[in-house]
Amino acid sequence: MEGFDALRVGIYGGTFAPIHNGHVASAKAFMEQMKLDYLFIIPTGTPPHKQMDHSDDPLFRLKMCELAFADTDGVIISDCEIKRGGKSYTYDTLVEFSRPDTRLFFMCGTDMVLTFDKWYRFEDIIKLCYPVYVRRENDPIMTKRIVDKITEYYNKYGVMFRRIVTEPTEISSTQIRKRVAEGKDISGLVPPAVAEFIKQNGLYLAEDEK
Ligand code: ATP
Repeated sequence: MEGFDALRVGIYGGTFAPIHNGHVASAKAFMEQMKLDYLFIIPTGTPPHKQMDHSDDPLFRLKMCELAFADTDGVIISDCEIKRGGKSYTYDTLVEFSRPDTRLFFMCGTDMVLTFDKWYRFEDIIKLCYPVYVRRENDPIMTKRIVDKITEYYNKYGVMFRRIVTEPTEISSTQIRKRVAEGKDISGLVPPAVAEFIKQNGLYLAEDEK
């Protein structure tokens, strides 16, 4: 149809336990550089038998995502994977978001790029979206591994990964949970409202502090 522009929609999924400034910076760069109309942040579901602890409640992870993007236009936090329950598959989420009038962009960090071809229905995933990656680290060895891997994807499957160009923020959720358990400060690593939420709800404390 003449003059018709497809809606550009981004999908950024993860455990987000908790969401941190690396996620937030990447999400904002993703929106800008891929010129997204909307970006869906989608925390994964957690199978009930894996919720070992108060801190593992998926609704906490969802709420922290809402707090992190409260003032960012165009970002929508979706509970579709949490509601679906069981193990979350990116394939199922992309099918759910696919529409004829929409171009889906799916972003992941460099660690995920390396294992992408092992994901459930990988060859269908790459038909449903434009894959995008963002660097997590300033490491030339990792950079070479990523370039080799995306070249392999291109040669084998004809799929081209787009790259988000941004200064990497070397933060992980594991590092944050560890710092909280050790009683260390996490300001500067997560948005202030997320730090407050973690404190108020006693998340990620060491065993003897619960
Ligand atoms: P954990 O330490 O618990 O494994 P994580 O920090 O890797 O968590 P996830 O929720 O597993 O965070 O990641 C969700 C998505 O965000 C993945 O695609 C991951 O590669 C990406 N990601 C995580 N941290 C960063 C970061 N610092 N910069 C860019 N992308 C990131």
